[in-house]
Amino acid sequence: MSEPTYDRSVLIAGAGIAGLCTAIGLLRAGVSVLVLEQADELREVGAAVSLAPNATRALDSLGVGEALRAVANRPQRAALKHYRTGEELLAYEMGDVMAARWGSPYLQLLRADLHTVLVDALRRLDPTALRLGARVLGVEQQDGRVTVETAAGRYTGACLIGADGVRSAVRAALYGDGAPRFTGYVAWRGVVPTRELKQRDLDPDTAVYLGPGRSLLRYRVRGMEALNVVTFARVDHWTEEGWSLAADPRDLQAAFEHWHPDVRDMIDALGRHSAFKWGLFGRAELPQWQRGRVSLVGDAAHPMLPFLGQGAAMAIEDGVLMARALAQGHDVEAALACYERVRHGRATRTVTRADAHGLRLHQHPIDADDGTPLPQDDFMEFDFDVATTPLNV
Ligand SMILES: Cc1cc2nc3c(=O)[nH]c(=O)nc-3n(C[C@H](O)[C@H](O)[C@H](O)COP(=O)(O)OP(=O)(O)OC[C@H]3O[C@@H](n4cnc5c(N)ncnc54)[C@H](O)[C@@H]3O)c2cc1C
Repeated sequence: MSEPTYDRSVLIAGAGIAGLCTAIGLLRAGVSVLVLEQADELREVGAAVSLAPNATRALDSLGVGEALRAVANRPQRAALKHYRTGEELLAYEMGDVMAARWGSPYLQLLRADLHTVLVDALRRLDPTALRLGARVLGVEQQDGRVTVETAAGRYTGACLIGADGVRSAVRAALYGDGAPRFTGYVAWRGVVPTRELKQRDLDPDTAVYLGPGRSLLRYRVRGMEALNVVTFARVDHWTEEGWSLAADPRDLQAAFEHWHPDVRDMIDALGRHSAFKWGLFGRAELPQWQRGRVSLVGDAAHPMLPFLGQGAAMAIEDGVLMARALAQGHDVEAALACYERVRHGRATRTVTRADAHGLRLHQHPIDADDGTPLPQDDFMEFDFDVATTPLNV
């Protein structure tokens, strides 16, 4: 390999939410990092993301709170609605009520905007910290160093953090636990301009329509300008090549044919705006994330179903905690073990609860019109503060 070997203290594979948060946390603590991202250019796809109070609190601790609030919506109220009648089955206040209760706001924004906030913060801290076109191909540990083979050359560091998502090459190198498994859910998602909708009255600003085996979540993003629409359906298997495809509007329309006119209105708009169809993939729980000087964060460690809106939140919390553990300046392997002790239980619990909540939503006999509202899900320990939680557990 003709490329020089770079030597940074901490190597991070993947510039997604988990990798960027880890890197920002470390740079703020004075630790040098190099983020190795496979993409040649940064182009975040995948519509929008909700950030619960535990996530916004963690992002505040990384110094990006102000930039985040400038591009995010703060939903005021949320409701579960009957798929055919549109009747509210359950509603709760968000906005100031939630912020006062949990000490930090609930925000919703485009994923691209969140990504931009994080990349800008990283580049302000160190313009050289991000290496694009550097797909991780292999990992070696020797003599207290980690060497990473990438499409852009070899890099060595004191440790490697795998933040490379559900199809993680770092996880494969550590554990070789095979390809992710299909979870039985398909999602169609996209963002549509609000002005194109027939329904003007989007009250409340966040809603989930529940039907037999299917659901549709919609919320505003970019002020009043756009609506994030994501639908979930249970299916027997995923037969497509790949895991994200341009959606066929006819499939979407057929799947929601008998739903409320407001839902069909959103489905028609989605069909016009290049929605994507995603197979949702997961993995069996890893009892351990660390091997020597390498560990995992975010979806690489614990991919989860999106039904609690906590996948990105856990990725953010992981990043903040990983940075805190490594910045203590002790032995690297001990720091990675400390990270895992603090994070494993909470992340694993969240994965299990997201599974259970998905089943509860999609197996509810809503079609029987039995009028029984779903119980409000327990909030996901929204008051958890990853920036101050003790490290010495
Ligand atoms: C439909 C849907 C809706 C969701 N909604 C929410 C929500 O509202 N709230 C919430 O909290 N979470 C939500 N999530 C979950 C959330 O999106 C993920 O948990 C989160 O993006 C995980 O971040 P990550 O950084 O771990 O992984 P990713 O976002 O997957 O980032 C991984 C990065 O690593 C790079 N990479 C991959 N392989 C390599 C390699 N070999 N070498 C170098 N780089 C590599 C990728 O290009 C990418 O940049 C949702 C998920 C889905 C599917």
